[in-house]
Amino acid sequence: MDFRFTPEEEAFRKEVRQFLEREVPKDWAGFLGRPGDVERVFPLLRQFSSSLGEKGWLTMAWPKEYGGQARSAMEQLIFAEETCYRRVPVGGSIAVTIVGPVLMLYGSEEQKREYLPPIARGEIDFCLGYSEPGAGSDLASLNTRAVEDGDDFVITGQKIFTSLAHLVEYCWLAARTDPDVPKHKGISLFIVDMKTPGITIRPLIDMLGEHSLNEVFFDEVRIPKGSLVGEKNQGWYHLVTALDFERTPNFFFFPPASLPPILEDLVQFSKEAKRNGKPLAHDPVVRQKLAQMFIEFEVVRVLSYRIAWMLGRGLIPNYEASIVKLFSTELHQRVANVGMEILGLYGPLTPDSRWAQLRGRIAYSCLSSVSATIGAGTLEIQRIIIAIRGLGLPRG
Ligand SMILES: Cc1cc2nc3c(=O)[nH]c(=O)nc-3n(C[C@H](O)[C@H](O)[C@H](O)COP(=O)(O)OP(=O)(O)OC[C@H]3O[C@@H](n4cnc5c(N)ncnc54)[C@H](O)[C@@H]3O)c2cc1C
Repeated sequence: MDFRFTPEEEAFRKEVRQFLEREVPKDWAGFLGRPGDVERVFPLLRQFSSSLGEKGWLTMAWPKEYGGQARSAMEQLIFAEETCYRRVPVGGSIAVTIVGPVLMLYGSEEQKREYLPPIARGEIDFCLGYSEPGAGSDLASLNTRAVEDGDDFVITGQKIFTSLAHLVEYCWLAARTDPDVPKHKGISLFIVDMKTPGITIRPLIDMLGEHSLNEVFFDEVRIPKGSLVGEKNQGWYHLVTALDFERTPNFFFFPPASLPPILEDLVQFSKEAKRNGKPLAHDPVVRQKLAQMFIEFEVVRVLSYRIAWMLGRGLIPNYEASIVKLFSTELHQRVANVGMEILGLYGPLTPDSRWAQLRGRIAYSCLSSVSATIGAGTLEIQRIIIAIRGLGLPRG
């Protein structure tokens, strides 16, 4: 076992740092979680995506035949560590990490020609039209219908928790095409232009006061048959592949990488803030808590490197990916809570308060770390996967 990075990987890290040094605005403090920040930050993300696109890094994980760089999982992880360290919420995630790879496997030649190049340039992005009011963890129960009519499909139904539906160009939609067969066998996948008549988007404001989630209503939305991805009624199997791409840690969706800056902030704060005339860093309770967080960070770091190592050897992580997702998102909550304890009454202050410490990041972390445990499969679902695939327990 060798825990060192290769000289090539170290050189790549240096190149990423230099690139970020140039591209990330000097005063960039990260995504601060004030109401309206999603809309404010989105154009910056697009700009950053297009710089990444020019460098070929937006699709660094794609195979070379599709214009990618076939970068190793370890290089992607390095990229994630460096961008998250500078709190750059890289854009283009769904198009690059889910839609592109699934189209390469199941898309028609026309779809590949139409969508892959603009995705690689960072010009278009997608929202995921999966969840419905009655279908979340049990996604196969979805009810949105797609009915064939001449050269079109006509879509009717409702999606919920659709992230960024109001800002992106397309929806990657799962809909029922056959209601008379077992639920997994009657689903198909579609690409829907969000400007198509009959689509209504309603905001869902989260507890940060932020508009990122939406309800999306489809009222007899007519889309051409060429929008069907893969085979009709085989959508569930394409979806499972898409979910695997979503859950496998990659450089866009990599929860552990966002943790180190928070711990670093708290360590710095405890050295500077004083209680009874002495820096907090001398307080034995604060030291115990920070040391515990550091231990857990080291655990999740090694777990992440194992995932990258597996991917590099062509092994497919499954319960291992669930462990990383679960441990890192729960750890995010634990560290945010420790942050609240250390900052005391300054902790809940928002970035706009003149008394806010660490630019209000702890309050933001506390609130944002809740939803991270739900998206892409809840903690309970991850534990079920770990029980079945990791421990060999029977299905419940
Ligand atoms: C920030 C965020 C962004 C999201 N973005 C999108 C998006 O872009 N597109 C999209 O389609 N969806 C999105 N979602 C929705 C997300 O995928 C669902 O919320 C998630 O799959 C859970 O579904 P649900 O909310 O319907 O909860 P339910 O499935 O109803 O679950 C409710 C509770 O019951 C538990 N539970 C369910 N089944 C079991 C079981 N078998 N055993 C034990 N416990 C169980 C769950 O863990 C949960 O605690 C997003 C969610 C969040 C929080």
